[in-house]
Parts: sequence; structure tokens; C-alpha cells
Amino acid sequence: MSKAGYYGKLFIGGDWHEATGGKRRDVINPANGKVIGTVAAGTTADIDRAAQAARTAFDSGVWSGLPGRERSRVLLKVSQLIRERADELAEAESADVGKPIMFAKNIDVPTAADQFEYFAAQAQLLDGSVRNAPLPVHAYTRREPVGVVAAVTPFNFPLILSSSKFAPGLAAGNTFVHKPASETSLSALILADIVTAAGVPRGVFNVVTGSGSALGDHLVTHPLIDKIAFTGSVEVGSHVAEIAGKVLKPVTAELGGNGPNILFADADIDKAVGTVISAFVFNTGQFCMAGPRLLVERPLYETVLDILGKAVGGVPLGDPSNPGTVIGPLVSKDQLDKVSGMVEAARAAGARIVAGGRKLDIDGGYFYAPTVIADINDRAPCVREEVFGPVLTVQPFDSEEEAIARANGTRYGLAAGVQTTDIARAHRVAARLEAGIVWVNGWAMLDPSIPFGGVRNSGWGRESGEEALLSYTRSKSVVIALG
Ligand code: NAP
Ligand code: MG
Repeated sequence: MSKAGYYGKLFIGGDWHEATGGKRRDVINPANGKVIGTVAAGTTADIDRAAQAARTAFDSGVWSGLPGRERSRVLLKVSQLIRERADELAEAESADVGKPIMFAKNIDVPTAADQFEYFAAQAQLLDGSVRNAPLPVHAYTRREPVGVVAAVTPFNFPLILSSSKFAPGLAAGNTFVHKPASETSLSALILADIVTAAGVPRGVFNVVTGSGSALGDHLVTHPLIDKIAFTGSVEVGSHVAEIAGKVLKPVTAELGGNGPNILFADADIDKAVGTVISAFVFNTGQFCMAGPRLLVERPLYETVLDILGKAVGGVPLGDPSNPGTVIGPLVSKDQLDKVSGMVEAARAAGARIVAGGRKLDIDGGYFYAPTVIADINDRAPCVREEVFGPVLTVQPFDSEEEAIARANGTRYGLAAGVQTTDIARAHRVAARLEAGIVWVNGWAMLDPSIPFGGVRNSGWGRESGEEALLSYTRSKSVVIALG
């Protein structure tokens, strides 16, 4: 079906439907503020229909009852179709999120395809084990799918974060009701089309677009749903965990971050500065695993500030559909105002703005200059909280011990980085950083085989790797008397 046919609709039970009541919401291109289409404003009645379709499909065994190898073949086909439709997916993702087309093409789309490929292989390996109990029994465990999963995703990496749930979840035999972020829902609709074309049976995969505040509670507590796979902010995530907890539904929660990046004086400085810049400007800083908090060993503090101050203005910024663009707009006017407000608060409190620190007037889009802030203390909101924009704070430290304590000093713990040429220090510091993933001499080195996730307020559970697959299963023990 052409995109004109399904944009503006919901995907329920294998068919495209208008939202109950027929309401739609405009889709805005953040690069110029223009309306580029509409998506359906789903209702709680639509959630009911989608949950019922997913339940019926699960209980019928049409997917959960297939041998893993057969699910694997279908997931490989999904991966192949994602690659075949790469241009369409990348263009939709770029226009919807404001993501530079270069990254949409080279990172978002291939990562989604890789996830389906990786978990297609895993679908064949799901196994129980025999237990050596000192009893006259034969005891073994089975790995079974959890059931119907509600997948709720944020605005910043729509395609990757949808796929990071469906690939392991479908591999394990679950069915889904997906509610993507209301600001960026287009790629979930294309994915529904792809998954169906690949042979995922009707009802296994359902997409209800619409507002999280209107639909979220109904979805998360729905009696036909068995598990919640949530990615988003700490505030919404803790609300979801609370209401799901009341009805005892398991939740995986991938939440916010405020990643520290520790730059030791023994680092390869040229390489490290390149890493520092990409870690805070990638996806215009709207990256849960970004590195917006740079800690620099004091002898290098002013030198690094000087290099950063000169370099960041040269990073190509502008129209995301231009293949040379590295920094696009923020996703919305609200996000732009929030980022700008946090930087102005830092300025007013006496911090030194080394670069950027202003909105940019380009084509009516929501652009913000990449910003470097020095001489800022640990209590400032820009250091303590997630800014979610192209904003870097830079602070000096005097010892390894101090660097670790400062790095661990916020309520988050998602990603962290260490830039050093001392291998013993790299391992020592990595072991003590409170984070789900630590990168040494680089940033954002990710793969479907490498798990990531949070500690503390950054959430529960892991995505990618065997850890993700297992989170979409539960074990059952079977114990047979031998006589
Ligand atoms: P958000 O505001 O928390 O929204 C996330 C999703 O939750 C959206 O689909 C939203 O719908 C929905 N939602 C809102 N209220 C809900 C409710 N009561 N019940 C259930 N769902 C509800 O997050 P965002 O602003 O889109 O994304 C940015 C955040 O995501 C950042 O904090 C970022 O760090 C985090 N993030 C984390 C990871 C990770 O892997 N740890 C990855 C990416 C992003 P609407 O869109 O309609 O509001
Ligand atoms: Mg939000």
C-alpha cells in the first residue's frame, strides 16, 4: 500500500482503520514548522480493539506456537524489507524528527534492520535446560513468551526504539500493541506495513497512534496486556511503573540519562575532542545515551575549552534533508524553549558560555546553536538534569577519585565514557561508573548484541542482546516423577 493509503490510520488486526471518532493530528516538520501530513488520534476504544486483536492472535498460537526457526525466517524477511525500503524510511524519519538524513540513512535504518537480523538468529536458540535435582524426578525448564506486550516509545529514535522491542519480542513469540510518540509516529506505520508484508500474521502487530496522556493509562493497565515495554522520560516512566505495579504487570523502563564523559590528561586529545563533540551533538543532543557532561582533568581544562569553543561552530548545521548536515533542529518548539530556558538559567547564574547559547533563525525551524558551558557547578540544572539538546557542560577535576564521584553524582545512570590511554585506569574507572554501558575511547558504540539500559532513575531492564530476548520470555518448570 502506498504511504498515502495508511498515513492517518491505525493498524489493528491486520487492517488499516480510521481512529474511532475520526480525529487526526498534524505532523510537523521541525526543520521549517510546516505540516507534512496527519496521524490518527486513537482513542481508548481503539486501544481496546488493538489489545483484543493482539490477545486473540497470541492465544491462537498462530505466532507463539510456531517453531522458532519459522519465526526466524519471517524476521529475516522484515530485515530485508527494511533495507529495501531504506530511502522511504529514512526520509520519513528525517522529516518527522528533524534528524539529518545522513544519520537516518546510515544509522537509524540499518540499525533497525540489524536488530531484526540479530533476533531472527536468537529466535532459533531459545531453549530451556535440564535441572539436576537430587530427587527421583526429571526436571526441566521451558522458555515461553510473556504474551501481549504494550510497547510505548519516545520521539527521538522512533524506528530504532520500535524495532528494539519488536525484534526480540516477536522472536520470542509475543504479540504487540504499539503506541509510538505522538510527535513522531510515521515510521511505526511503515514498519506495520513491512512486518505484514514479511508474513507476520494478522493481529500479531498492532499500532495505535495518539496522545500518551489520553491513552497511556488505559493501555498500561489493560487487562488483556501482559507486559509493558516503555522507553521515555523518568517522569512518565515512573508514572507507568506505578500504575502497572498496582495491577502487577511487569514493566521494562528505559528512561532518561545525563551521561558523564571523563577526559583524562593522558588521553589522545585530538581523538577525544572529536568523541566529545559527537557525543553531545548527535541527534541534536536528543539522545538518552548522549554525553552532555564533560569532566576534564584540570591541566587540560582551558585547552579543551579553547578547542571546543573554536570547533563546535564549524559542525554543519541546518536543513536535515541536506546530506552534509550533522546537526538538525530540535523536535518541537516546546523542546527548543526548554533547552533555551535551561541555558539561560545557567547564564544568569554566572556560568561562562564558551560557544552557542542561542536559538537560530533558519527557515522557521526549531534550531539551537551547539553550546559549550564552562565554570558551572554540580547543582546547576544543566549539570544535574537531562537537557536533551546540543548542550555540553565542562567541569575540571583533580583526581581519578573525584572524577568518579562527580560522574556518579546525578540521579541518572545510563551511559558513561572514559577517555584515557592508560588501560589499567580504563578498566578500573569503567568498573566503578554507575551506568548500564561504559564506552572507553569512543562514544555510542552500539550493536544489537550489546545490551544497554539504566541504573537508578535511568530505569529497569536491558535492550539488545540476550538480556532483551529473555525479558520477553518467562520460564516454566516441568517436573516429572520417575516412578
Ligand atoms: P515521554 O514524554 O516520556 O514520552 C514517551 C512515551 O510515553 C510517548 O509515547 C508518550 O506519548 C507516552 N506517554 C505519555 N504519557 C503516558 C502515560 N500516562 N502512560 C503511558 N505512556 C505515556 O518521552 P519523550 O519526551 O518522547 O522522549 C524523551 C525521553 O525519552 C528522554 O527522557 C530520553 O532520555 C528518554 N529516552 C530513553 C531511552 C533509553 O533507552 N533509556 C531512549 C530514548 C529516549 P506522547 O508522545 O503522546 O506524549
Ligand atoms: Mg516528552
